[in-house]
This record gives sequence, C-alpha cells and structure tokens, in this order.
Amino acid sequence: MTSPVVVQCAGATHTGLRRSLNEDAHLAASPVFIVADGMGGHEAGERASAAVVGAFAPLVGRESLALDEVRRALADARSAVDSLISDGTSRAGTTLSGVVVASVDGIGYWLAVNIGDSRTYRFADGELEQISVDHSVIQELIEDGRISAEAAMTDPRRNIITRAIGAGSTADADYWLFPAELGDRMLVCSDGLTSEITEQRIADILAGEADPQRAAELLTAEAVRAGGRDNVTVVVVDAVSVVTHPGTIVHADEVDEDTRPREAVNGEVR
Ligand code: MG
Repeated sequence: MTSPVVVQCAGATHTGLRRSLNEDAHLAASPVFIVADGMGGHEAGERASAAVVGAFAPLVGRESLALDEVRRALADARSAVDSLISDGTSRAGTTLSGVVVASVDGIGYWLAVNIGDSRTYRFADGELEQISVDHSVIQELIEDGRISAEAAMTDPRRNIITRAIGAGSTADADYWLFPAELGDRMLVCSDGLTSEITEQRIADILAGEADPQRAAELLTAEAVRAGGRDNVTVVVVDAVSVVTHPGTIVHADEVDEDTRPREAVNGEVR
C-alpha cells in the first residue's frame, strides 16, 4: 500500500525583524502539513504551538488519516495547551491550520483543518484559492460588508482572532474535505506571511519556483524583506502522485458555510 496522495513537501520559518522569539511551529511530514501560530508572551506561545505539533507528530508516517483522528489530535493539543494555562502560563494559545492526506474509498483527498487566522490555500492551474476562513474580527466585518478587504490590511483590529486552541476558547475547528488532484500545491502559512505580502505576489512566487523548499524559503524571505513584523512560517506541499478516478463526486464531509457563531478570545492581540 502506498499513500493515496504522495507529496513533496517543505517548510521554512523566520522570527522576523521585530520579535525576539519565534512562536510559530510547523510540521511538514506526510500525511500531516500544519502551521501553528502561538500567542501569550513569555514563551507561552512557543509552548502552545509546540504542543500542537507534538499532538500531531505521532500521526506522521501513516498513509492517510480519518477525520476522527484529526479531531483526537486537536483535542490532545487543546488538553496540552490548557495544562500550560493551569500551570500558570496564562493566556497561552495557538492557531492551527493545514491539511492532512485523507482517503475516501481509496481515493486521495485533502482534509483541511483550521482554527484561528493562519491560512491554508490551494494553488492549482495558476490560481491561488484560500481554503480556510479566518476566525478573526476583521473577517466578520468583511463578511458583514462593514469594511473592505483593502481597509482590513491596515485596520488596527486585524490581529484579533475569535477562535483558538487555548487562550480561553473552546470553539471547534472548521474542516473541509476535497479531492486531491495531481499538481495541487497546498500552501499553509502563519499570518506573518499574509500580512506582509499580497496574494498576487504569493501566487507569482508559487508559480515561478517549482522546488517546494525553495518556494517556501522565497516566500518567507519576501515577508521578512517586506517588514517582518511577525514570525513567518510557510509550508508548501506538492501532490506528485494521486489515486483518483474520473467522475469523483466533490462533496464536503463536513462543511462550514458560515463559520459562526464564534467566540471572542479575550480580545487577544498578537
Ligand atoms: Mg502571527
């Protein structure tokens, strides 16, 4: 047996120019490709994001994963982060975004998971599509038509997230299941990338560099060059072999059309 989605993957991370610690963490090892962006200060964020990676690490090496297994890993991560909080590391919290390889009747799928404002994109046929929906105050304002996407880039509320693992949040993650296709390039990143460079620039770099490691490094370097105001983490996953067949029905096992109600996460500003 081989995995229904065979990949080449890479990750890159940078502390940036303004922060003394890198509180992001990532795991890019099949079938798990995730980024966690920790928050809380005094190493709490670093420990929270590391706890997410620690909870998913035992799944590395599997051919594919089921939704329940991802849910369990997320629950384990939440327990670990909550225990940081009860140890006195108040306000520890983290985002989680990414994809895992899943299998539906032997066909290769991506199972995307998201909580917070790190992001998962699919780059295919030259188009960059954001899969995840940010759990942020700004996202809600955009959906309500109260601010434009352009204004959101500089809005002072842009770092306030409405769901997290830890940080007082108990809200669940969103999950999306969709067929993998040969040539899919998945991008998972912390907001240190998307707050510094435009999606057009991201798409251009993904289109221009075939090697996933080089692409991840170029994206990270560009975000640092653009200001590096936050930690930057990028995971790039290329589907190089996919078990598929014609006429695959595209459906979501669990779709969150509207990801509300959301919870405020203590007005956490990262
Ligand atoms: Mg960040």
